[in-house]
Amino acid sequence: MSAAAKVVRPEIQAMHAYQVADATGLVKLDVMESPYGLPDDLAKEVGEIVAKLSLNRYPVPTAHKLRALIREVMQVPAGCDVLLGNGSDECIQYITATLAREGAVVMAPAPSFAMFAMHALFFRLRFVGVSLREDFSLDCEAFLAAMAKERPALVWIAFPNNPTGNAFPLADIERIIAAAPGLVVLDEAYQPFAGATFMPRLAEFENLVVMRTVSKIGMAGLRLGYACARPEWIEAFNKARSPFNINVVTEAVAIKLLQNKPVLDAQAAKVLAERERVRPELQRIPGLTVFPSAANFFLARIAGPNGAGTRAYESLKAQGVLVKDFSGGHPLMENCLRLTIGTPEENRILVAALREALK
Ligand code: PMP
Repeated sequence: MSAAAKVVRPEIQAMHAYQVADATGLVKLDVMESPYGLPDDLAKEVGEIVAKLSLNRYPVPTAHKLRALIREVMQVPAGCDVLLGNGSDECIQYITATLAREGAVVMAPAPSFAMFAMHALFFRLRFVGVSLREDFSLDCEAFLAAMAKERPALVWIAFPNNPTGNAFPLADIERIIAAAPGLVVLDEAYQPFAGATFMPRLAEFENLVVMRTVSKIGMAGLRLGYACARPEWIEAFNKARSPFNINVVTEAVAIKLLQNKPVLDAQAAKVLAERERVRPELQRIPGLTVFPSAANFFLARIAGPNGAGTRAYESLKAQGVLVKDFSGGHPLMENCLRLTIGTPEENRILVAALREALK
């Protein structure tokens, strides 16, 4: 037995690390990034800002300038505060850590974003996934019944949901917030493509956090996520936060880019328009079922026996296109691929490659 095997927690030994495929040389449609870089003039200004930073100094621990700007540009309601994370992944970690009482339960629809369950495991909490229906719609009655039975301290709802792409009905989410015995976090990572949001109504609910990220609007590489709630929540989460978690480059560049948010909004609008243009093209491909999406990706199922999805994934990869294969995960996801919306040219390549893979 190795020295590590003697002491590493068995459940950590048993798990797989979060997999991110090597995309070298491939059309990268696997992790919902924006396909657009910065315009040259803005990129140049960003370079000048970075050159002037005092990299020898620690960041300002409160990142108050960036937090103030996020409140303004993201229209965080007055009276609510903001937690910053190194990606919203890190907000998930801090929120879970804060609520990790002995025996507490974490609940989410399933399938949903993998990190909700992973952080529950890291903090020794019991994770309860409440299965979506076969068409990936939310069974609200089943969710409410599971909450009544398990009394979760923490409920995660990705709105819209990843990896399925759909946004659950507002009325269902309201019922879940009202019935939850603990905290509900609405993970609005895909809000820029959905429109609907609970952000303006945040102050209405005592037990609600709205979490977002800048990753899907062109800043995935910066690693910046944020969670908004009443100050008593944010104060508690901040106690679990690493003091310098937002580095000086991220803070300075995010400030510059959020001051130029119309540029990012225009890019997101192009992605949204592409989603609508591509949808019928995908729907016309024989052997492909495309599920409704309010995000910057489509979940699609390949017809055929188990293995058909992975074969299509491999064929796409051989044709130079990287998507995400969900076979072998949640049972509802067999033969499902997740297709991120790219530029018009990338999407043309994707559609042609799918046709070839399924012919
Ligand atoms: N929440 C959801 C629902 C996601 O899909 C993702 C990214 N795939 C994240 C959070 C994490 O995003 P980031 O850490 O880049 O902010």
